[in-house]
Amino acid sequence: MKDNYKLIEKLYFERICGSENEHKARDIIVKELEDRGLKVETEEFTIDGLEAKKSKLFVDGKEFSQVVSAVNSMSTSDEGEEGELAYISSYMDASVQDLEGKICLYHRRYVDENIIKILIEKKIKGLILCSGQIDNEEIEINPYHSSKDDFSKFPVVFISFKDGDRLVKQMPKRVRLVSQPIKSEVKSYNIITKLIGSEKQDEEIVFTAHYDSVPYSKGAYDNASGCAMIMRILDYFLENPPKRTMKFIWFGSEEIGLVGSKKYVEKHESELSKIRLCVNVDMIGVTLGTLYAEITAEKELVSYVKYLGYEKGVAVEAIQKIYSSDASSFADKGVPAISFIKRSPIGGAQIHSRYDKIENLSKESFENSGEFINEFVKRMDNSVAFPVLRTIPQNMLDELDYYYRRKKRPQN
Ligand SMILES: [Zn+2]
Repeated sequence: MKDNYKLIEKLYFERICGSENEHKARDIIVKELEDRGLKVETEEFTIDGLEAKKSKLFVDGKEFSQVVSAVNSMSTSDEGEEGELAYISSYMDASVQDLEGKICLYHRRYVDENIIKILIEKKIKGLILCSGQIDNEEIEINPYHSSKDDFSKFPVVFISFKDGDRLVKQMPKRVRLVSQPIKSEVKSYNIITKLIGSEKQDEEIVFTAHYDSVPYSKGAYDNASGCAMIMRILDYFLENPPKRTMKFIWFGSEEIGLVGSKKYVEKHESELSKIRLCVNVDMIGVTLGTLYAEITAEKELVSYVKYLGYEKGVAVEAIQKIYSSDASSFADKGVPAISFIKRSPIGGAQIHSRYDKIENLSKESFENSGEFINEFVKRMDNSVAFPVLRTIPQNMLDELDYYYRRKKRPQN
């Protein structure tokens, strides 16, 4: 059997969606598949990019370090917007302060839609968000972030966390913001290959993992590890041909809102009824961590995975929930889904930052989880009748509604 752990090493570079590096990662995965004699399809889709960044922040008349505009935010004039600075430390702050005509600083890089609504009502002049790590000067924001947020009513820029810290300590009277984002389009790709089942070709199992990473992250753990894990499963079934048809998909642009998988399920909607289960791997192989199976399907599958763990002597926490990864795009279209994650504790391996390092992973951990996942999928494929009910239970349908913000979670 091939050493799939090596694929993590091959993909160990920053792979921001839409970037040349993401395309380089695509080529590496495609080559791996072609070297195995497989037919590969790549499906292209478009995401928002940011071409020019003519953004500036002036504090008491002096230009303040680096600033990046949010992709779909309102443009200012060349002179920009000037106003008093207000620091919003919480959602509550936003609802009580007098913010009209002010430029607001909020210490997070994502803003809740409710805060945006309040800020629009308050008629703020501009919004400064913070991104990065407090121990360095970099803005860790994805220039290709196609945010769903409604930033059309005021200009929005990102500064580094460190600069945010400085600004709040200094608390200048007036700031001036110049932000002129220019939207462009960039390409991202899904990579697909399949093995035709020997017996039940009308029943499919789909294996998924995303291969993009966030800025400054070489994404060993998130998610070169998952890419390598589904390659490991593929290699097993190349040697042991499956009864059911299997599709293996490596998605682009997961990190900006599961975009690759969303494009896939939209494009292939008519074929989804054949899929009996989506098996997603996102974050695996970490040395210190707990293996989870997060299941958006009937409860019986949760018990099954739990019992299989006991049978095999593998500690696996099986729970019924929505996992924020590509499996949710399938679950939301009615496909039962299971995600495998080896979750690192706080203080351990980090994701979405420069600290997502290959040193935090080990081949032994990767292989141990791989053995378990393989046993699970082998049993699913070998089943005389497919055991998982092809339906999403009502409690999970509700959770999907909350996850996709179609409904508000009832408060008690
Ligand atoms: Zn991920």
